[in-house]
Amino acid sequence: MRLARRGGDLLDTLVMSLEQVTGLRCVRCGTIYSRGTEGTCASCGLDGILDVVYDDALVRKTLTRAALAERTRTQWRYRELLPIGDGPLPSLAVGMTPLYQAPRLAASLGLARAFVKDDGRNPTGSFKDRASAIGVVKAREANARVIACASTGNAASSLSGFAAAIDMPAVIFVPKRAPEAKVAQLLIFGATVLRVNGTYDEAWQLCQDACARHGWYNRNCAVNPYLVEGKKTVGLELAEELGDRMPEWVVLSVGDGCTIAGAWKGLCEGHRLGWIPRLPKLLGVQASGARAMVDLMTMKGEPDSLGTGEAVTIADSIAVGQPRNWRKAIRAVRASGGAMIAVEDSEILAAMRSTARLSGVFAEPAAAAATAGLARAVVDGLVARHEGAVVVVTGNGLKDVRSALTAVGQGVQADPSVVVRLYDIEATAGAVDDAVERAGVTA
Ligand SMILES: *Cc1c(COP(=O)(O)O)cnc(C)c1O
Ligand SMILES: [Zn+2]
Repeated sequence: MRLARRGGDLLDTLVMSLEQVTGLRCVRCGTIYSRGTEGTCASCGLDGILDVVYDDALVRKTLTRAALAERTRTQWRYRELLPIGDGPLPSLAVGMTPLYQAPRLAASLGLARAFVKDDGRNPTGSFKDRASAIGVVKAREANARVIACASTGNAASSLSGFAAAIDMPAVIFVPKRAPEAKVAQLLIFGATVLRVNGTYDEAWQLCQDACARHGWYNRNCAVNPYLVEGKKTVGLELAEELGDRMPEWVVLSVGDGCTIAGAWKGLCEGHRLGWIPRLPKLLGVQASGARAMVDLMTMKGEPDSLGTGEAVTIADSIAVGQPRNWRKAIRAVRASGGAMIAVEDSEILAAMRSTARLSGVFAEPAAAAATAGLARAVVDGLVARHEGAVVVVTGNGLKDVRSALTAVGQGVQADPSVVVRLYDIEATAGAVDDAVERAGVTA
């Protein structure tokens, strides 16, 4: 296969060496591996995902509130807790996304407090940028020629953007049904794109095989121990920014489970550093058509299989039939005293509207699933009305305009003369609606 090269090297700044990493621990058997290990545990195979362990005392020395006040507002501000060496960093501004108070959303959910963290504001429009940023740095450190990933869409568009930024060829495996905007992102960034005629799970396996055969750097989060270290920065940011205002719950949607597991790791590290007085509970939200993790949560012992792998939901980013990181995700949710729930697509569409209208943040379906899950959890009594929550909006709504239009319809079509008559009317929303009705305009 011929891989296109692209120009423009956008690298700058240096970071410290890897001294801060003491090793990697298998989440299944606990075996400790030395720093520099790639892939999963030798004895547990794909099930033995590794967790990066840091030297707490060393980190504590330099990662102080005073030091942070001087640093860039990107995820690189947590460099002592990132598994990267001295090499250059991609220039794209990743992380430190806006955190908004959302009193109207809170009121409509029946909660005391709500915050919205808009991770759709990352360079390529999703939370995945946090991991891709680390991925390309690690690929460079490994002297890889090519970086590859399989993705439901966002990890792919994100990786292509970051690969373009550091000038490394990327090969992307996406399922055929990935939304158009995400495919457009892949192509515009110049990645080699393989639209697999099958599901995400099939694309994932193909990517695994191709990386093994060609020695490409594998960005797949569940097998690469370093990428989740990027994802955890959302937890570090919440801990740093909220401090003792940290509400009782942090809500995230769940596909493979890397995102929620990563957020938990960051929250725990922020807690150990004393940034938050107590850890929040995690609410993981899946779509009811892709609820493997919800089912695993209620299962006793180890599952002997992850089900059929079928996944049907409008929320493409969490349309995962066989979650790759279920062990880490479930461990995180249990340790937090939280819960995992599933919501219907109709609830996700309603949440796209409410998130946008009540907080001003446009969420793609998988991101709005978090709001939908929170709404459901309040109704079910899982989240108490005196509690508060942070909803992490993991992807921008413009990534899937078709779904947004499904949520809201096509809007009113009007003849120009009708529109002119509307200008005479006092411009309150109600008056305009009345006028549109009187004018007999049909939607
Ligand atoms: C990938 C993704 C998720 C879920 O992350 P997992 O690590 O697969 O659980 C949620 N929302 C968006 C927008 C995503 O792209
Ligand atoms: Zn192991």
